[in-house]
Amino acid sequence: MAWVILIGALLSHWLGRSLDQQFVKVLAPIFRHQARQGSGKASLYAVPSLATSVILELNAMVKLINSRLLRVNRLSLELEDMNAKLEKSRQELHHLSTTDPLTGCYNRRELVRRLEDEIARANRQESELSYLCFDIDYFKRVNDTYGHAMGDAVLLNVADTIRSRLRATDCFCRSGGEEFTILLPNCSSETGRNYAELQRLGVAEAVTILDGTAVQVTISLGLSTYSPGQDDAEALMARADAALYASKENGRNQVTVG
Ligand code: GH3
Ligand code: MG
Ligand code: MG
Repeated sequence: MAWVILIGALLSHWLGRSLDQQFVKVLAPIFRHQARQGSGKASLYAVPSLATSVILELNAMVKLINSRLLRVNRLSLELEDMNAKLEKSRQELHHLSTTDPLTGCYNRRELVRRLEDEIARANRQESELSYLCFDIDYFKRVNDTYGHAMGDAVLLNVADTIRSRLRATDCFCRSGGEEFTILLPNCSSETGRNYAELQRLGVAEAVTILDGTAVQVTISLGLSTYSPGQDDAEALMARADAALYASKENGRNQVTVG
C-alpha cells in the first residue's frame, strides 16, 4: 500500500511538472509579446486581452489575404482578357497581310506561298494541281466610262460571283489590278477546263448595279495543270499566263488550256 502511495505521489509530481512546462511553453511567447507592447508586466490575467488582440491581428491578416486574393483574381481575369485581345489582333494582322481589302481574296504574296504548299502536297499525294488565271476584259473602259467607283463595284461583284462557285479546297487570289488566280488542288486538266467554263459563264451573266447604272463584263481565262515531277511553279504560272494571253488574242471571253 505504501508503495502504491509513493508511486502515486511520484507520478502526480512528474505529471504536474510536465504540465507546468507545457503551460510555460504556450504562454511565454504571449507574455513576451505583451511585454514588447509596453505594459511591462506580464501576468495570467492579461491572457484574455492578449487573445483578443491576437484574434484581431489574425482577422486583419485574413482580410489582407482576401483582398490580395481578390486582386490576383482580378489581375488574372484582366490577363485572360488581354490574351484574347492579343490573339484577335494577331488574327486581324494575319488577315490584313494575306488578303486584298477590296475583294477579300488572298493577295499575290499569299498566292505564291499557297502555290508552293500545293505543289508540295501534289508531289506528296501524287495528285494533279490546276492553276487557273483570268483577267477582266476591257476593264479600263469601265473605269473610263462609269468612273473608278463603278470599276471597284465590278471588281467586287466579279470576285463574289467567282467565290459563290468555288470548291471548298480552292484558293482564290487577286494577283493584280483586275487579274485573279484560282489554285485547284486535286484537279485534272479536263475538270479544270469544265470548272473554268462554269466560272466564265457565271461572270458573263452577273450584273453590277451602282447608283441605278448596270454594267456587265466578261473574263478571259488561262489554265495549266501540274503533274508531280513534271515541272515547277514558275513553269506552271508561265503556261497559264500564255494560255490567258491566247484567250485575249483569240477574241476574249473564253478559256484556253496551256
Ligand atoms: P484587256 O481586255 O486587254 O485586259 O483590257 P483592260 O482594259 O482590261 O486592261 P488594261 O490593262 O488596259 O486596264 C486595266 C485597268 O484596270 C487599268 C487600271 O486602272 C484598272 N484597275 C486596276 N486596279 C484597279 C482597282 O483596284 N480599281 C479600279 N477601279 N480599277 C483598277
Ligand atoms: Mg483586263
Ligand atoms: Mg490586266
